[in-house]
Amino acid sequence: MNLAVLGPHHLAVQVTDLAAAEGFYHGVLGLPVLKRWPFEDGRAGERALWLSAGPDTFVALERATEPMRPADFSDPEARLHLFALRIAPGDRAAWEKKLAEAGVEIVHRSRWTLYVRDPDGNRIGLSHHPYDPMSSRLRQQGIQDERVLAAFDSVAREAFVPAESRAQALEDRPLDIGFGQTISQPYIVALMTEALQLEAGQRVLEVGTGSGYQTAILASLGVKVFSLEKIPELSQRAEQALKAFEGVKLQVADGALGWPEEAPFDAILVAAAPTAVPPALLEQLAPGGRLVIPVGPDPMHQELQLWTKGFDKPRVLSQVRFVPLI
Ligand code: SAH
Repeated sequence: MNLAVLGPHHLAVQVTDLAAAEGFYHGVLGLPVLKRWPFEDGRAGERALWLSAGPDTFVALERATEPMRPADFSDPEARLHLFALRIAPGDRAAWEKKLAEAGVEIVHRSRWTLYVRDPDGNRIGLSHHPYDPMSSRLRQQGIQDERVLAAFDSVAREAFVPAESRAQALEDRPLDIGFGQTISQPYIVALMTEALQLEAGQRVLEVGTGSGYQTAILASLGVKVFSLEKIPELSQRAEQALKAFEGVKLQVADGALGWPEEAPFDAILVAAAPTAVPPALLEQLAPGGRLVIPVGPDPMHQELQLWTKGFDKPRVLSQVRFVPLI
């Protein structure tokens, strides 16, 4: 027997009174009606109603086939709720007012969520919890490659940051990982990864393993990653964090020299800034291979360059700030 999660699709809610449920979910909460299902036997009225609950998700209100006591399926204990609908953070007060006007009681308030009950007693949350999948922010920032976006949702960044920074792990900024080094900002990791246009099975050299987060993103794309790190303690720590990832080889060495034994590489990604591109890296690229690298002597400001083997000038992707290549 095979079971797999299909992603958000529909939530089915059994209701005793479809019209009352529509009044609540559509009339009060404002979920748009997508489809009405008539009874198969031609009886008047509807068997079910589908309401939109955001992209790719709908709520199916289904008339309970047998009369049920509310206690059969509601949560009188008020410890559970059926699901939460997302509201905008700034809309909480407006929702409180709207619910009061509609005569809907708020049965519980938490920091991020208002809880109400549907006419059958099921508890629904209206939540402005700040969690967003990494991909939704990256998409807003201009990352388009769906495989890259999916890789970011599949790798937990918190597993690559020190315990004291876990609470900030989902923020789009670099974080301290010790030894004067940082885990790169997710947007920059995404920008560099996307620029390499990787295909599964390709060989990628990474210079500056650091936390191993970028390594994990690359491995999630199905490429073989050869990653060099100068600081032994960081490499060891990254090795632990990367245990669950396949196709990763780490070594403690000076990345400016590349990894001649494993060359050529289809792509090279450098996560620390030299003052000029190390010639060994361009040499170890396969024909048509791509190198993405921050370059510049100023520690506060470098150019993120994209080189393609066979062309003698890079394309500048962005202005960036990386730790120096040591
Ligand atoms: N992608 C990493 C970035 C880490 S910061 C992450 O997101 O965690 C850059 C890393 O490059 C640091 O760990 C630093 O120790 C390493 N580094 C600096 N100079 C290096 C060199 N010459 N060879 C190998 N690694 C180097």
